[in-house]
Amino acid sequence: MNNKTLVFATNNNHKLIEVKQLLPDYKIISLKEINCFEDIPETENTLQGNAILKANYITEKFGHNCFADDTGLEVEALNNEPGVYSARYAGMDNNSEKNIEKLLTNLSNKKNRKAQFRTVVALNLNGKQYLFEGICKGTILENKQGESGFGYDPIFKPSGYEKSFAEMSLDEKGKISHRGKAIKKLIDFLNNKS
Ligand code: IMP
Repeated sequence: MNNKTLVFATNNNHKLIEVKQLLPDYKIISLKEINCFEDIPETENTLQGNAILKANYITEKFGHNCFADDTGLEVEALNNEPGVYSARYAGMDNNSEKNIEKLLTNLSNKKNRKAQFRTVVALNLNGKQYLFEGICKGTILENKQGESGFGYDPIFKPSGYEKSFAEMSLDEKGKISHRGKAIKKLIDFLNNKS
């Protein structure tokens, strides 16, 4: 592998395509392409910890330059929960429907609906580690709105918009989203290096 090859430690094909388009000067390769079919552990209790854990797993085990991301929804009135546990908020037998239901129930008697999505990206490049963060602030809606996207998109309304993430096109969401912002910082960093 040359200096301009990076592994993106994700199994999410959608994220992979998005990042490949944004970084034309780099060869971005998937976990499958390095024959990594393992479930990389996400056992830390912070987003930063999990992003680092995933990136280090690949660098230590496979020896590649690599980046990984971790995202959470932080709700102010719930002490920033579900945060790092966003994917499994409703327990082990979870899905987006159940996670949303639990969040709306826990917020049902709260006036403060402020929340933010936060993404942390960890990059391991030539023996050094770099971190990038992206935040998207907004509010939690009373009911689901829209059909697109995934996760908590139908109940998250970004500040300054009158619609939920699930009512936006991928392009529109990507420009203002937590992940979009963190990846943009990573891209600016890499482009400045070349
Ligand atoms: P991950 O770290 O990107 O896998 O995100 C962890 C969990 O946060 C996901 O399983 C989703 O429930 C939630 N999540 C992450 N990003 C988004 C988003 O852009 N919209 C809605 N939910 C998200």
